[in-house]
Amino acid sequence: MHPPDTQKHSVERTLAAEFPAGMSNPVAPAPEVMGDPATMQSTSPTAEQESVPAYVDALFAKALQQRASDLHLEPQRNGLRIRLRVDGLLHDLPTPPAEIALRLCARIKVMAKLDIAERRLPQDGRISVPGQHQRIDLRVSSLPTLWGEKLVLRIVPETSAILPLEALGLSEQQRQAFASALSQPQGLILVTGPTGSGKTLTLYSALQTLNADYRNISTAEEPVEIPLPGINQVGIAPHIGLDFGATLRALLRQDPDVLMVGEIRDEDTAAMAIRAAQTGHLVLSTLHTKSAITTLARLRQLGISDRDVFESVTLILAQRLLRKLCDRCKLPATPSWHAATPHPSANPQIFQANPDGCHHCLQGYRGRMGVFELCSPAMLNGLGEHVSKNTTARPAGSSQKASDTAVNAEFAPTPYQDLRAMGLQYYRQGLTCLTEVDRVLPQQSFESGHASTVNSTVLEPVHQSWANVSTPRPDGFTRDCDCDCDCDCDQ
Ligand SMILES: [Zn+2]
Repeated sequence: MHPPDTQKHSVERTLAAEFPAGMSNPVAPAPEVMGDPATMQSTSPTAEQESVPAYVDALFAKALQQRASDLHLEPQRNGLRIRLRVDGLLHDLPTPPAEIALRLCARIKVMAKLDIAERRLPQDGRISVPGQHQRIDLRVSSLPTLWGEKLVLRIVPETSAILPLEALGLSEQQRQAFASALSQPQGLILVTGPTGSGKTLTLYSALQTLNADYRNISTAEEPVEIPLPGINQVGIAPHIGLDFGATLRALLRQDPDVLMVGEIRDEDTAAMAIRAAQTGHLVLSTLHTKSAITTLARLRQLGISDRDVFESVTLILAQRLLRKLCDRCKLPATPSWHAATPHPSANPQIFQANPDGCHHCLQGYRGRMGVFELCSPAMLNGLGEHVSKNTTARPAGSSQKASDTAVNAEFAPTPYQDLRAMGLQYYRQGLTCLTEVDRVLPQQSFESGHASTVNSTVLEPVHQSWANVSTPRPDGFTRDCDCDCDCDCDQ
């Protein structure tokens, strides 16, 4: 007897035929991780049990095929929700049959060598699966939730995901400034942005550039994302007291040349990083700040004096990741009246995503690219002088506007491009769409964000003046004009 519902247990039915439109690529799992389809179609009880491992293998294969960074298994009131994070956004997969859902999490916990009897406490584990070129590590974390145990599997990027400095997406000017800061024997280089903005991969690229036999390079990370040959990587463990500050303190006793601190998140780590940068070490780290400019305010909050900042920090690089339009299915966009829309005479090549996507992409997007905002040492020096002048004495009767004008003149020779300006440049080149630029780099944020996040009356005018520095555009127009409509006109 062949019960009709046994067919729905098959991986083919669940992950291919029932796949939603947005994830419409047919399942083509790597043979080395795919279960035997013949077994999946069998109706015997033994074969049904075996279908759970096959389902898990097919899930992993689907995640790798879609270039997912994370796989979420989330118990809900009505079943198990499965989602993949691709290019920064979560996408639903079909809900597995209830009979399989109950055993899916147990299967994954066994593979990750977790205690399957423990469902009340969070656990961490690791699974290694064959990939196309090498074995792929999956970092598994469990969490007890209202409707059961939630599992998240982080797919650890392959070493090949680390790009050379030239391929990061920096403009030539930014790349030269970054390379110059990396060539210094000491100083602090900060990469800023929210979680998932690609900061770690940028730092890994920098470390790969510096990796040489004559340098002792050490890192403190939470956790170690990608193993780097020739580099001493330490995974911090705050639960036993090995936090970033303590690890950095220990690394400084290990005759280091270059240090990478995963994140500066407290005063102790900030002070240690500054001290290391001032005592002959090159230090690379990240900060969770909105932009390169607001980093200075954040360092103040962490107890770092302006003098220490200007003596130690050699470069601040803010970054985001924008989804790239799929070359095979992107649709021409209709120019509309928008501040970011190129002037009609500029012969724009602008596109929008095809929401139906194609077999090559996901909802019209494939891959991401970095946009960067750089605060160079020259800017820091200028800011230092400006702060010094303002904190010593502002001449009686001198107006704020006069001060701003002076600062504008001071910074004018240094080309400055904010994150949104660089994103709009990619939009005008047809590489991404305006929707994506507005999602990642909302205009409002760049009109008032810099100043609003700074609590210092000294820094505010500086930030506003930096934000007003005109950005050269490929179509020959400048970003800013004097009229009130925020357009590109010459009025
Ligand atoms: Zn496509």
